[in-house]
Amino acid sequence: MDHLMLVDSVTSVPKDCEPQLAPAGGVLLEISAAAACNELLKAALADGVAIAVLSGYRTGEYQRLLWNKSVHDYMSEGLSFDEAERLTGRYLASPCHSEHETGLACDFTTWGCTDTRDDLASTPEGIWLCRNAARFGFILRYPRMKEHITGIAYEPWHYRYVGLPHSRVIRERGLTLEEYLHYREERSPCAFSAENDALKK
Ligand SMILES: [Zn+2]
Repeated sequence: MDHLMLVDSVTSVPKDCEPQLAPAGGVLLEISAAAACNELLKAALADGVAIAVLSGYRTGEYQRLLWNKSVHDYMSEGLSFDEAERLTGRYLASPCHSEHETGLACDFTTWGCTDTRDDLASTPEGIWLCRNAARFGFILRYPRMKEHITGIAYEPWHYRYVGLPHSRVIRERGLTLEEYLHYREERSPCAFSAENDALKK
């Protein structure tokens, strides 16, 4: 599995993507992401922070179900189909375009909470994640002010496993996955690996 795989509104989940799954925090994630997530949860707990995982791997069918439900909910509030799809697309990836279908994404929340929290970044759990997730190979996938690049509004709960050292470089440089992939393309492999080695120290 390519942990740097790009899945967004333009690039769909590859047809042959069948991640090997393992449990983490009550959900299923791609096997490396699951191991890293379990380590992350353990480390947070050791710091006195109880983080819960709300959502991990989703099948394409389930993503379609979520999409249709959201569109239906908006339409029952009186919105047109186009408007309902537009609003749904702000926070939800369309079917075949969700990172959750790769098993590399997970949504975190606070213990006991059964939904995502817009204010997660200001809770001890969100603050811990912001500071530490990159140590475990995870990045905040849809940061504030980067909607024009990611195509998705700020989601303080959605983290994406990219593995080390990528997560550290992305965090240190304040990049999105899209920018990081572009940045890697522009640099020669030698220069890039020397930079990565420097960041690892
Ligand atoms: Zn998510």
